[in-house]
Amino acid sequence: MRYSRLFLPTLREDPSEAEVISHKLMVRAGLIRKLASGIYTYLPLGLKVLRKMENIVREEMNRAGAQEILMPGVQPADLWKESGRWEVYGKELLRFQDRHGHDYCLAPTHEEVVTDLIRREIRSYRDLPLNLYQIQTKFRDEIRPRFGLMRGREFGMKDAYSFDADEAGAEASYRVMFEAYQRIFKRCGLRFTAVEADSGAIGGSFSHEFMVLAGTGEDALVHCPGCGYAANTEKAELPPPSPVSNQGPEIPAPEKVLTKDMRTVEEVTRFLGVGPDDLIKTMIYQTSQGPVALLVRGDHEVNEIKLKNLLDGHEPELAGPELIQKVTGAPVGFAGPVGLQVRLLADQSVKIMTRAVVGANLADYHLINVVPERDFSPQGYYDLRSAQEGDPCPRCGAAMEIKRGIEVGHVFKLGTKYSQALRATYLDPQGREQLVVMGCYGIGTGRTVAAAIEQNHDSNGIIWPMPLAPFEAVILPLQVQDPEVMEAAENLYQALLKLEVDVLLDDRDERAGIKFKDADLIGIPLRLSVSRKTLAENQVEFKARRSEKLEFFVLAEAAGRIKEIRDRLLAADD
Ligand code: ATP
Ligand code: MG
Repeated sequence: MRYSRLFLPTLREDPSEAEVISHKLMVRAGLIRKLASGIYTYLPLGLKVLRKMENIVREEMNRAGAQEILMPGVQPADLWKESGRWEVYGKELLRFQDRHGHDYCLAPTHEEVVTDLIRREIRSYRDLPLNLYQIQTKFRDEIRPRFGLMRGREFGMKDAYSFDADEAGAEASYRVMFEAYQRIFKRCGLRFTAVEADSGAIGGSFSHEFMVLAGTGEDALVHCPGCGYAANTEKAELPPPSPVSNQGPEIPAPEKVLTKDMRTVEEVTRFLGVGPDDLIKTMIYQTSQGPVALLVRGDHEVNEIKLKNLLDGHEPELAGPELIQKVTGAPVGFAGPVGLQVRLLADQSVKIMTRAVVGANLADYHLINVVPERDFSPQGYYDLRSAQEGDPCPRCGAAMEIKRGIEVGHVFKLGTKYSQALRATYLDPQGREQLVVMGCYGIGTGRTVAAAIEQNHDSNGIIWPMPLAPFEAVILPLQVQDPEVMEAAENLYQALLKLEVDVLLDDRDERAGIKFKDADLIGIPLRLSVSRKTLAENQVEFKARRSEKLEFFVLAEAAGRIKEIRDRLLAADD
């Protein structure tokens, strides 16, 4: 490709709305442009990278025995009602009606459609196992689209679905996908880790997330340096706290203290001279079963996923000022469990608190000397908070670390959740009807590309891993007006094309400085510069994007050398 013909609008400045480096660089390097919140156009360079990513996925899926199909993006509500998810999926599901008034949605995922497909086609155990996948556009009306392709509303996903006759088969299919995922992310040049995860709205028995480690990741993961246990903090189980012996002096009855205008844990505890772990936060949630008050220690965070799973799978919603006033009789900031007439759930660490501060359900007042079970009794104590740095590992008890990651892939063992709901069955060798056992496996294609940039960049721009690079090499003729320079560059270009190296010729009449800057920004792994100076020595200058070192190749050998390096870098990630 010749740069002068390439639709590649680069920008010198970071776009103001971009918060993370991958978003900034994708816009600046002319990979994407925004149409609306969370909705993007891929420009030629961005699309090339996406296609390379998709092809790696496709090769590994095919190698693992999965077969590619393509399902529709528009789906009838009836199927979603059959699975029960029309009700529970919530606001991320974009719903609409056709001209006949029939309900539809834009696909956020395809379990319903693929299960409908196989229930019509699978008859006997001989038709199993089966694994079908697609690379397709999803739509989720995310509450906070951000970070460019990382959390879009319209985004690309590879989703695969496995169908087996029994649990053992399903587990084998899961393992095969797990291994394929490891190969895919390795080939994309990513540093990643697979962690235990919550199975969310998809449901099912167990799952792993593939996390790319990056400081800007939206997910927090816990990692145990002791035994290697790793999990999303959304999921990480916490062992019940060890009971404390309650031998201290008798604790006096709760006492009301004036805490005028003090609403936050920090304000109240500083004023009272206690630690945040001496305070019980009382959070009011609206749920499908009515309002619920949730108690957690002041230094802990409520884990809404654990809460959701404890309730009934419906999304709980933090109450607004009106509901809080109605439930507690007090404005925001003064809720407490003592005397509260509402369903009370507590995190397990609340149980062993001995002398707590709580809201008094009265404007400007808190209670001190509150003792759980003496002064209030929740309906139960559960694991309802998110893991934090230093929390004990549920496996070995060692202190866990928190790291940040980007979830690029997710594998779920679904079991019979969907085959049961949609009656997807087969006949076993004895002629008995059995439920198909399923698994599902997603990879965000655009998000993976963004994650690759998060891990591979410097202050000058992107540093593409070879397998994802939009071009493998770039040739910079530094004086395009000089026919000799142009001819040498052109010959090199033709030689590289012949060797099937994906090469860009920067034939623009621009200053050398600008060409170097753009080549760095768009991150082409291998760069060859041709100038009068190098030609005087019958050479070209070579530099790898990842390294600072300059080398000189003999002109006639340059194309061969580049191909060799390209091949080596492709194989390195293979
Ligand atoms: P998240 O927790 O980040 O919302 P999820 O659990 O909803 O992800 P899945 O339903 O497992 O995601 O989807 C499979 C994959 O699709 C994810 O691992 C991720 O790579 C990608 N993905 C999900 N949501 C988005 C999005 N809004 N934008 C881009 N990619 C996404
Ligand atoms: Mg999501």
